[in-house]
Amino acid sequence: MRQVECLIIGSGPAGYTAAVYAARANLKPVMVTGLQQGGQLMTTTEVDNWPGDAGGILGPELMARMEQHARRFGTDIVFDIVNNIQVVDDAHGRHFIVTADSHVFDAKTVILATGASAKYLGLPSEEEFMGRGVSGCATCDGFFYQNKPVAVVGGGNTAVEEALYLSNIASHVFLIHRRDTFKAEAIMVDHLMEKVREGKITLVLNSTTDTIVGDKSGVTGIQITQLGVQKTLSVDGVFIAIGHKPNTDFVRGLVDMDEYGYITTKTNPQRVTETSVAGIFAAGDVQDSLYRQAVTSAASGCQAALDAERYLK
Ligand code: FAD
Ligand code: NAP
Repeated sequence: MRQVECLIIGSGPAGYTAAVYAARANLKPVMVTGLQQGGQLMTTTEVDNWPGDAGGILGPELMARMEQHARRFGTDIVFDIVNNIQVVDDAHGRHFIVTADSHVFDAKTVILATGASAKYLGLPSEEEFMGRGVSGCATCDGFFYQNKPVAVVGGGNTAVEEALYLSNIASHVFLIHRRDTFKAEAIMVDHLMEKVREGKITLVLNSTTDTIVGDKSGVTGIQITQLGVQKTLSVDGVFIAIGHKPNTDFVRGLVDMDEYGYITTKTNPQRVTETSVAGIFAAGDVQDSLYRQAVTSAASGCQAALDAERYLK
């Protein structure tokens, strides 16, 4: 079993930033990458809101640079998937037995940076046009659809928020929802209805998505069935906003979470990333259902490493 001062689980912006800070604090961090080394940004093209990269940067390139940065200060990066964490309180103090598919670690501190995954409809066309017109993040990709028509699929707060956000960028927004009432909060629906009255958003209710249509250039439309009638809306972008799932199944029952599975932090004013278990910290999308950005994830990764250092002291 390998002894580790600071074990970082996840290799997205939160994990790599935690690694840079933990390594510079001489915690000799070990990072377990998970299946998707580099995290969510590996699935996108242009990242245009990473401060300092004024010309934009490709997601995989940014993550390769973050990996290089973490390695520069000596982070040991292990490709594996963590399945279980066990808390041990004994004569050596508190430590954690962390079991991955092919490794077992004995860690003094653990940083959970396992992110969250956008839910998708599961259509083959969705996969085909991913990053070429299909997106799970309006804040990230909305800019590419200036004065172009787009569709948002979903009926919760995320979908309404994305539709409102896009209505200031796109030429027109179709909000496609499978029912005729929204799960989103009333105040969000009020804002939505204002935009509908202004003619910026069209509600397409009682409608299911059959397929996303397109060609070599990317998405050209979305085919839906509305009350038994099939139709195609001409759009350049389709934003799937049917919810996110934090990657926290492996720590369910160990650390406190909200009803959606996001890890609870910010209860200890001295160490804001600490979870309900002292010594385990959480950073990035895994503990943030609200902002879900690379820069906010990186920032909380920094906080988690500093918190781990303070805890060890
Ligand atoms: P993630 O990036 O989700 O990384 C999670 C990591 O945890 C992965 O490496 C995964 O392999 C690992 N992991 C999961 N489970 C386990 C396990 N059991 N064991 C070990 N490891 C595990 N944000 C922006 O700021 N700008 C953008 O332009 C932008 N574009 C985006 C485009 C797309 C298509 C998507 C999906 C998201 C985009 N985002 C963007 C959001 C951004 O990607 C996320 O906010 C950010 O990646 C979250 O970072 P994270 O480190 O918290 O988690
Ligand atoms: P959500 O509340 O679970 O809503 C998901 C929506 O997607 C629902 O309308 C659902 O339809 C629809 N949907 C789910 N699966 C679908 C499928 N396969 N096909 C078509 N439609 C599907 O998720 P969310 O909107 O991401 O919100 C999650 C949580 O974050 C909520 O607590 C929300 O309040 C919160 N949040 C808050 C804010 C804010 O306060 N500003 C912003 C974003 C999110 P049905 O309605 O038919 O079930």
